[in-house]
Amino acid sequence: MSTLLLEIVTPERKVYAQEVNMVSVKGADGELGILPNHIPLVTPLRIAPVVIKKDGATETLAVSGGFIEIRKDKVVILAESAELAGDIDLARAEASKERAEQRLSAKRDEVDYRRAELALQRALNRISIKK
Ligand code: ATP
Repeated sequence: MSTLLLEIVTPERKVYAQEVNMVSVKGADGELGILPNHIPLVTPLRIAPVVIKKDGATETLAVSGGFIEIRKDKVVILAESAELAGDIDLARAEASKERAEQRLSAKRDEVDYRRAELALQRALNRISIKK
């Protein structure tokens, strides 16, 4: 089965670099299932799981924002944060969810509200992947 090189990079580190069979992401315009020889494309990513198929196994990462760059046989995800399912701290994500929900229920200005909404999305994404 043919492969493509998938790299997932954050400002802190290279989280992932492997030859894989398929990667699924949630782009700005919806779900994208990427196989080798996909047409070149750059698009923003939503806060969502990234699902990787490799040698018949499936791996999931929590990715928060950033971009995906698709080339013929290489895909690069530049994300604000990315964690492999096994690296997600569930208690931390639950605490972050609680904090965000409290901020959303308090009457604050719009910037704080938007920030809390994004924090809630990140926490829910991590929780759903971990569970
Ligand atoms: P928190 O409020 O818990 O800091 P956050 O959504 O604000 O959550 P981010 O700014 O997205 O956190 O991430 C900061 C760093 O912490 C990143 O390196 C990210 O990978 C890591 N991180 C955040 N939450 C978790 C988690 N639940 N488990 C593992 N790593 C996490």
